[in-house]
Amino acid sequence: MPKTNNHSDAMSQSESRANVLALYPEDTREAAALLKRAVPLMVRHNIAPNPVHYALWYTYSKGQDPELNRHLDRVLRDFDYFPPESATKLFREHIIRDELDDVRADQHQVISLVDGMERDVSRSVKGNLTFQSRLGQCMEMLDEPVSARLPDILSELQQSTRLMQSQQEHFLAQLQSAQSEIKTLRDKLERAQRAATLDGLTELLNRSAFTRQLEQALVKASQNVALVMLDIDHFKQFNDQYGHPLGDRVLQHVGQVLRDALPANAFAARYGGEEFCVVLEHCADLTVANAFAEQLRLKVQSLRIKARGTDTVLDTVTASFGVAFTEPGDNLESLVTRADDALYQAKRNGRNQVHTLEKDPVTP
Ligand code: GH3
Ligand code: MG
Ligand code: MG
Repeated sequence: MPKTNNHSDAMSQSESRANVLALYPEDTREAAALLKRAVPLMVRHNIAPNPVHYALWYTYSKGQDPELNRHLDRVLRDFDYFPPESATKLFREHIIRDELDDVRADQHQVISLVDGMERDVSRSVKGNLTFQSRLGQCMEMLDEPVSARLPDILSELQQSTRLMQSQQEHFLAQLQSAQSEIKTLRDKLERAQRAATLDGLTELLNRSAFTRQLEQALVKASQNVALVMLDIDHFKQFNDQYGHPLGDRVLQHVGQVLRDALPANAFAARYGGEEFCVVLEHCADLTVANAFAEQLRLKVQSLRIKARGTDTVLDTVTASFGVAFTEPGDNLESLVTRADDALYQAKRNGRNQVHTLEKDPVTP
């Protein structure tokens, strides 16, 4: 048995979590600059200034979502107008990422905030236009050889400049307060999203979020997806011998092992009580998946369960592993069933081992 404990700091899985509202992290100045780009774009393309459009074109100006920008570029190229259903769809997919029922109420608040910001933008833009036309008129007047009117003209200019400045200041103040509200909402949404997608004990994905993510992985690439399922051996004995809280700690340690071992394009979940899953996307073949599972097995085996707050080792942990790799005609259910059957075989063969099942075995 290896003597080292591979228990190091977690590489937070939350990094890979979809951030529902990472939309407005800009400071006021940046936001104002983006608005100045977004609004003329909308005006140029006759796009109605409603909150949905406004949020889309604001994000377009940021340029951080290339897929959204590709869609919007296509809309500009192929349509004389912006079909409302496309706008709503894009808004849901790229801005709000409409996947969680219980955060809808907050999303509405965000929409009304964006609505308010949009009103302020129009006011500010209108202010600018008035100023510009006023400026134009004054310039024309200055061209006339009527120098006696110069003081009046200057005073008018001064007045409209002051007006424009105060409008700008008001607009920036509005933006600032909207941003702080958005930050509060974003934190709230993030907490709601964590609760909805993560397992509270291990902070790995919970089963339903995992199933959703695996479904998406299989849609993206029906091949080259590996599923590793593991189940802690004789876990019940930890509870029986040391109590439930220690059992919980064992689950946390195993969760940490999975997080630490996750390569890029992989995600891990607590699938059930003491059962976990890891999905490797873009995995080369079954041999690679097997080797990964074997590494995990060794890492779990090297865990040392200590009495809380001491260095006294109470026990060790092992787990059994089932591995499945996508084959033509596979779907979520068939892949999960194969990994589960393989895991069952590993248990039957004596536990603390990796077992693989192929769909149509060509080798014995
Ligand atoms: P096997 O090697 O066949 O997998 O045996 P096992 O003891 O691991 O499996 P069994 O299904 O008999 O027992 C699983 C136990 O896990 C039963 C249940 O009380 C316990 N359990 C499930 N969820 C939790 C949890 O969140 N915390 C703790 N401490 N125990 C849990
Ligand atoms: Mg078990
Ligand atoms: Mg079990």
